[in-house]
Amino acid sequence: MRKEESIQSPETEKDYRVLSHFKKDDSGPVVIALAGMHGNENYGVSAIRKVDELINESGGLTSGEFLGLAANLPALKERVRFINEDMNRIWFPSIVDKIRRTPAENMLTNERLQIKKLLQFLDPYILQSNREVVFVDLHSFSAPGGLFLITPRGKRSEKLVGLSTPMIFGIDDALQGAALRFFHDQGHTAMAFEGGMHHESRTLTNMVAFLLLLTARFGLIQPHLLKDYEVYQKHIRAEASKLPQKVELVYKHIIEPGDRFVMRPGFENFQPVKEGEWLADDQTGRIFSPCDGYMLMPLYQEQGDDGFFIVREV
Ligand SMILES: [Zn+2]
Repeated sequence: MRKEESIQSPETEKDYRVLSHFKKDDSGPVVIALAGMHGNENYGVSAIRKVDELINESGGLTSGEFLGLAANLPALKERVRFINEDMNRIWFPSIVDKIRRTPAENMLTNERLQIKKLLQFLDPYILQSNREVVFVDLHSFSAPGGLFLITPRGKRSEKLVGLSTPMIFGIDDALQGAALRFFHDQGHTAMAFEGGMHHESRTLTNMVAFLLLLTARFGLIQPHLLKDYEVYQKHIRAEASKLPQKVELVYKHIIEPGDRFVMRPGFENFQPVKEGEWLADDQTGRIFSPCDGYMLMPLYQEQGDDGFFIVREV
């Protein structure tokens, strides 16, 4: 029994970190999916494993390369957002360079060590310029409501239009130090996909559907070869059909230490809110909406510094 377990369980860093890897050629685009940057958002890991299974059954890729990586292994194991600091707020070029230069044993936090380990797999792609690299960072959130895609403005994001997912512009500026911003600034196509509420099975289906759409968009897979491709497409189209397709950030509520921020119950993603509406409370009293718009990512968990966002249709 014990022997079997050890055969089936991963043994090396690479076994844990690399969730999927297919390579057809060196010339086509590389799609890199990151999962579990926040350890309580473990559906990203399951989604990449499912996509791995589907691609495998279809006989592999038709072009390019697909790499799926787990980001924050200790936080995933503990099922917490992070251990020492938010791993998705420290991807600044100067910090990433410092992480590259610092020996692993001198790393100050778990999350910096995780980035160092991740870079062993990412750097060969980040640092090469002659190939199209597409990053998708998979996340989920604590409130009910729809899925969406966060991507910086610009030419590269035009390639992502029509992926059956509302696109949110401007949040990447508000999420300082987010991985997607880092990869974008390195010259790659980069996005975060927010698949839905943590631990809801729809979220997992949304993530699988989105990864299939994305890999098909960049020519890695041929939809007709993939089992259930149409089923996944129908699912994600239905999920997105009630939501605005393009929105931009107009307001972000920052939580500071000691604020004792509490979101009022019942808010969902893309729920319309009115200027002056009572949204939350903190130690200073009631917090009201500064404008009309849609609610996004209201915080219903303990860890996190963003109370909520308000977005408006473009
Ligand atoms: Zn997240």
